Amino acid sequence: MNASTGKVNLLGLTQPQMESFFEQIGEKRFRAGQVMKWIHHFGIDDFDAMSNIGKALREKLKANAEVRGPEVVSEDISADGTRKWVVRVASGSCVETVYIPQAGRGTLCVSSQAGCALDCSFCSTGKQGFNSNLTAAEVIGQVWIANRSFGTVPAKIDRAITNVVMMGMGEPLLNFDNVVSAMHIMMDDLGYGISKRKVTLSTSGVVPMIEELGKVIDVSLALSLHAPNDALRNELVPINRKYPLAMLLEACQRYISGLGEKRVLTIEYTLLKGVNDQPEHAEQMIELLAKIPCKINLIPFNPFPHSGYERPSNNAIRRFQDMLHKAGHNVTVRTTRGDDIDAACGQLVGQVADRTRRSERYIAVRQLPADGAPAASQS
Ligand code: SAH
Ligand code: SF4
Repeated sequence: MNASTGKVNLLGLTQPQMESFFEQIGEKRFRAGQVMKWIHHFGIDDFDAMSNIGKALREKLKANAEVRGPEVVSEDISADGTRKWVVRVASGSCVETVYIPQAGRGTLCVSSQAGCALDCSFCSTGKQGFNSNLTAAEVIGQVWIANRSFGTVPAKIDRAITNVVMMGMGEPLLNFDNVVSAMHIMMDDLGYGISKRKVTLSTSGVVPMIEELGKVIDVSLALSLHAPNDALRNELVPINRKYPLAMLLEACQRYISGLGEKRVLTIEYTLLKGVNDQPEHAEQMIELLAKIPCKINLIPFNPFPHSGYERPSNNAIRRFQDMLHKAGHNVTVRTTRGDDIDAACGQLVGQVADRTRRSERYIAVRQLPADGAPAASQS
């Protein structure tokens, strides 16, 4: 419900939620499918353009509902075809969405929070502190905006966006309910029809929420590992002090095996010169991941001002990759895309208003209930 207009924003409703909405206004449930197609396949936000809906119902919809995406502040297109949108969310902050075209596919990198409370030492989003959780409409709204920018042909036919990764700003598992709803809409045929293998949630390791995720949705999982031992990971990814490596890898393994078919965990590892890129780190990683079905994605550090870190040399990156490869791992190195528009991993800074003070950086984690149930979130 939009507090200023008193209207329900239909953009963020999953199919069952949309059906209940129509029931609540005294209409048939099948209307949900018609309206979802207009919104998500055709990018329509004007009820008068929904031509298979009679005038009386259109008036009723205008009185009770709206289709409102986040406001687009800017759209940049890089020389390599990468696109970046800056969008303003209800809290007043701005977040970023990036589209990366590759041969035969297009990946959209979506944000889940304005800022992030987890304060990983090498991440510019983390450096900004936490401001707010995005609503479900603001998360799926990023897909809606990107899809509209490719023209209003149905998403299923056009398929400019074949993959979505929750790897933009924020920790998606700390905005659990809204991210899960948005991912349901991404995969729904009435939404964007993206295959469950091609929707990926990336987490820095919020263990209780990994367990919860497995109960409510089937999507691919990526773990931001970044260090092969607890001492180093405590330093780089502070949430490791609460949920150490053994516990974390067990939760990930359980999640993957719970999916019931042959699926693998993606391991993300940002390479930081002289910090986690040495042969000893590769050896420890080989041991740590020996029994885990996974593919490894190495991300050379993307610098930002005053980070205190450097990108390793190409030789060091290759040496690290070779060691993992020789141990039988599938290892790719993520190439930097959209560099000229600051669209690379860890360069997404948006504009975070009223950030939580750094001394309160663990607030979102501390708020997790002891039984690991999803924390209350906005919708
Ligand atoms: N919060 C989630 C998802 C967003 S970050 C997570 O941490 O997994 C997406 C990926 O980019 C993460 O693996 C993150 O660690 C990595 N990253 C952050 N800052 C980076 C930087 N400056 N250079 C390279 N990768 C970075
Ligand atoms: Fe947050 Fe992920 Fe950045 Fe860590 S890497 S601060 S969890 S967005």
